[in-house]
Amino acid sequence: MYKVTSNIAEEFISHDEINETMAYAKAHAHDRALIEGILNRAEECKGLTHREAAVLLDCELPDLTERMYDLARRIKQRFYGNRIVMFAPLYLSNYCVNGCVYCPYHYRNKNIRRKKLTQDEIRQEVIALQDMGHKRLALEAGEDPVNNPIEYILESIRTIYDIKHRNGAIRRVNVNIAATTVENYRKLHDAGIGTYILFQETYNKELYEQLHPTGPKHNYAWHTEAMDRAMQGGIDDVGIGVLFGLDTYRYDFVGLLMHAEHLETTYGVGPHTISVPRLCKADDIDTADFSNCVPDSVFHKIVAVIRIAVPYTGMIISTRESSRSRERVLELGVSQISGGSRTSVGGYVREEREEDNSSQFDISDRRTLDEVVAWLLDLGYIPSFCTACYRAGRTGDRFMSLVKSGQIANCCHPNALITLKEYLQDYASPTTRDKGVAMIAHELQNVPNEKVRKTAEDFLKQIENGKRDFRF
Ligand code: SF4
Ligand code: SF4
Repeated sequence: MYKVTSNIAEEFISHDEINETMAYAKAHAHDRALIEGILNRAEECKGLTHREAAVLLDCELPDLTERMYDLARRIKQRFYGNRIVMFAPLYLSNYCVNGCVYCPYHYRNKNIRRKKLTQDEIRQEVIALQDMGHKRLALEAGEDPVNNPIEYILESIRTIYDIKHRNGAIRRVNVNIAATTVENYRKLHDAGIGTYILFQETYNKELYEQLHPTGPKHNYAWHTEAMDRAMQGGIDDVGIGVLFGLDTYRYDFVGLLMHAEHLETTYGVGPHTISVPRLCKADDIDTADFSNCVPDSVFHKIVAVIRIAVPYTGMIISTRESSRSRERVLELGVSQISGGSRTSVGGYVREEREEDNSSQFDISDRRTLDEVVAWLLDLGYIPSFCTACYRAGRTGDRFMSLVKSGQIANCCHPNALITLKEYLQDYASPTTRDKGVAMIAHELQNVPNEKVRKTAEDFLKQIENGKRDFRF
């Protein structure tokens, strides 16, 4: 039985409701009146139900599909402007007791070299990341109660926040670790994490259990109810996602939106972010083993419909995607991207070598952060290193009400300019700096409030004179 506010996984992600939704969407793929009605409603930017979104995803009318893409672009522009928030993953440990069949960290993989960073190695990695210009990290670690207990994660977070190196600082640490207890979520909250991120991989219980044959992750309910426990532990910014390509994209797309609806209806705050990784090649993993791989055209449509269905939720894409694919999805809805990423343990200090073989997946976009920043500037985007909200206590429902009223843009836009300025002063190559300076001069004119503009100009001057860390 489908119950959106239930605390039981199989009720808020109802298999029957997903199947009925997919059948309904398929039956209405050519239903012009229905699709037009949904698009009209979506214009209000208040989001859509999972059923309405599924109909848009299945729409086979070319003119209405074009209208959908156009709407996704306009919603993206309205809520996120031309700002793109930058982050980098930091892999702490690839020890893992789980048997996920699509991930090379699964415990049976003997080809991979197992590594866990010491606190000193974390310091070195973070200094390397700071020297690139990063301010926002996503911590990644396999599940292993002996090698990666919660105390290790908490100590690592403290280490990271404590490092002050030249003008660098990591100002927001997001955490992507295995589902855990309310008590541990409270500890993560108290350690000052930004977003807690956990991907569902697939919402199909039967397939989920096959893909996770052993280890604690095998427990579908424990994993699926993790965000509820995180909320109970005081974490109100949570990031969800699926690994597209495991089940059919239609099934997981509907499941993902049902999960977002569950969080919004139950806790009054939907997911802070949605990530859209696609299955890709890695050691001991062959994508040919998976028959549901998502082609580019469908992937782009998924991003566009998510943008329309949950306008207030940030959307993240990693370096798994090529620069070409990233360019397309930035336009349609993605608001955060990683740059200069290494997906191996210790990979920022020491470039991964063949014999190391410790990375989680192959990277498609191998450019440096400076190259990614220059590329974004060329495309007309403002790369933003902003971390202001979490540090100003704007999280959960306080954050969402600012986003929904559109007021957040009054912070995001000037914050993007001042954090870009810091990046240009401290880390950019001369060519990137020139592009960035021109972008800031141009975009300052787009700060509508005169008082805010004057303050931003003052902050920019102070940054030139060596001061750092301003925010709105
Ligand atoms: Fe471990 Fe996560 Fe990889 Fe599964 S996906 S094997 S839990 S690191
Ligand atoms: Fe994100 Fe808040 Fe900064 Fe905007 S002001 S970019 S929402 S942290």
